[in-house]
Amino acid sequence: LVSRENHPDRSTVTVRGVPIGPDTVTLIAGPCAVETPEQTLEAALMAKAAGATLLRGGAFKPRTSPYAFQGLGEKGLRILADVREQTGLPIVTEVVDAHDVALVASYADMLQVGTRNAQNFALLQAVGAAGKPVMLKRGMTATIEEWLMAAEYVAQRGNLDIVLCERGIRTYEPATRNTLDISAVPVVQRLSHLPVIVDPSHSGGRRDLVLPLTRAAVAVGADGVIIDVHPHPEQALCDGPQALVDGDLDRLAAIMRDFPPLV
Ligand code: PEP
Repeated sequence: LVSRENHPDRSTVTVRGVPIGPDTVTLIAGPCAVETPEQTLEAALMAKAAGATLLRGGAFKPRTSPYAFQGLGEKGLRILADVREQTGLPIVTEVVDAHDVALVASYADMLQVGTRNAQNFALLQAVGAAGKPVMLKRGMTATIEEWLMAAEYVAQRGNLDIVLCERGIRTYEPATRNTLDISAVPVVQRLSHLPVIVDPSHSGGRRDLVLPLTRAAVAVGADGVIIDVHPHPEQALCDGPQALVDGDLDRLAAIMRDFPPLV
């Protein structure tokens, strides 16, 4: 269903009127985690200033440590909905458990499945049946074939509004949090008709790498990027070191302007 064999034209997925696909390079930005109404609104305004047309933000956080901030849950979803109201930015947010899909879908405009759940087949089937566009991150140890098969689980439930997100893979190299597999973008675009975006924040895990990796992503032809921003990253409850700050936004906007879609 997701292969280009039976569907030669590349697809565009529309999230509450915002296209992600071959004719555009979509910027999705926002806080890694929703922490407070003020922080979420500030981050959303930063995202908008940089040219973002979709707001990211996690209310349910899949943390490596059970002692780390796990997200605000439904309270976080309500904050996101309020910020959508104030900024007009549609919401992309993660769902980590099949039991929460209906709840998250009742607030979200796009459901995100993260790297840790990329082969949680019950979750993939549940998001496939939820009637909302889905962003499927690549599992950190998934081959491209495994990633596309995960997308197939979503598609099988009747939902072809799937955006694939390369977010770096686990390699032997500890200098970066993950290794951005930039070649996955054109490889997957040739194999699948689905849009492919890149997450430079979770790939590098470091603020100083986000803009160079964003440049690489748009230069290679990614259909969009998803980027963490935070008004006060030193106080962030999640992934502060990779969040862009106010001073980075002009350069981010310039990168998005300077690299038109590679058609
Ligand atoms: C995220 O985008 O908030 C996230 C946790 O990403 P990943 O699943 O790629 O680690």
